[in-house]
Amino acid sequence: MKIEKINKWFGDKHVLKDIDLEFPAGQTTVLVGPSGSGKSTILRSLNLLEQPNSGTYDFDELHLDFERNVSRKQKLALRQKTGMVFQDYNLFPHLTVLQNITEGPRQVLKLPKETAEQTAMELLAKVGLKDFANAYPAQLSGGQAQRVAIARALAMKPAYVLLDEPTSALDPELELEVLRVLLKLAQENQSLIIVTHNMVFARRVADKIVFVEDGTIKYDGDPAGFFAPNNPDERIRHFIAAMT
Ligand code: ADP
Ligand code: MG
Repeated sequence: MKIEKINKWFGDKHVLKDIDLEFPAGQTTVLVGPSGSGKSTILRSLNLLEQPNSGTYDFDELHLDFERNVSRKQKLALRQKTGMVFQDYNLFPHLTVLQNITEGPRQVLKLPKETAEQTAMELLAKVGLKDFANAYPAQLSGGQAQRVAIARALAMKPAYVLLDEPTSALDPELELEVLRVLLKLAQENQSLIIVTHNMVFARRVADKIVFVEDGTIKYDGDPAGFFAPNNPDERIRHFIAAMT
């Protein structure tokens, strides 16, 4: 999957400036950078929650040029290829854990109830929550809720899972249980794109690090080079020092 020459304005504010990025399949790309630099806008653009003003987006057979009309069919196809996980989980409060996970597969993918439930139970086991199928979101800890949100995203069988600061709302011990799940997914070569402020985790999970600053890409490469004490970019060295 790749985006080229992506620009996004909010009013007269130029938030993404000629962004070129590739997200290798089967790998984990981690986006880091100061608050307000444009990380969420990049992630939301990949899922078309935001539509860039210009640039192109290539994903398998799909080619989108944002200066032309993006069809509803293209939008839906891209949304299905990218599953989003938000900082605050966004679970449906009136549905059980199992129903939260089966809702999309049943309504959108039109899977039979039994098939959707079987997959949901496998995913709950994977995220360590198989005993919580009948619980409601309000009965879960933040770490449990986020693991349900990850299972719910996976249930739609997206090509990529996009996670926007998935552990920022969690205490350290609950954060750890979510990070373990993400490390496991990464080891299974699930394609992941993660925005995080946790530099220890970024270094451990990333196949590729992207540093975003002021709507531009200041680093795009391997974690070793990014975290190297002799990284030639002083801003990046200061950022890492401030975050760790
Ligand atoms: P990050 O995720 O790196 O903190 P964002 O992508 O959320 O950054 O935001 C980038 C810039 O765009 C910020 O200046 C932010 O205030 C602005 N911005 C984000 N979303 C909107 C919006 N819906 N309307 C107006 N400005 C926005
Ligand atoms: Mg953000």
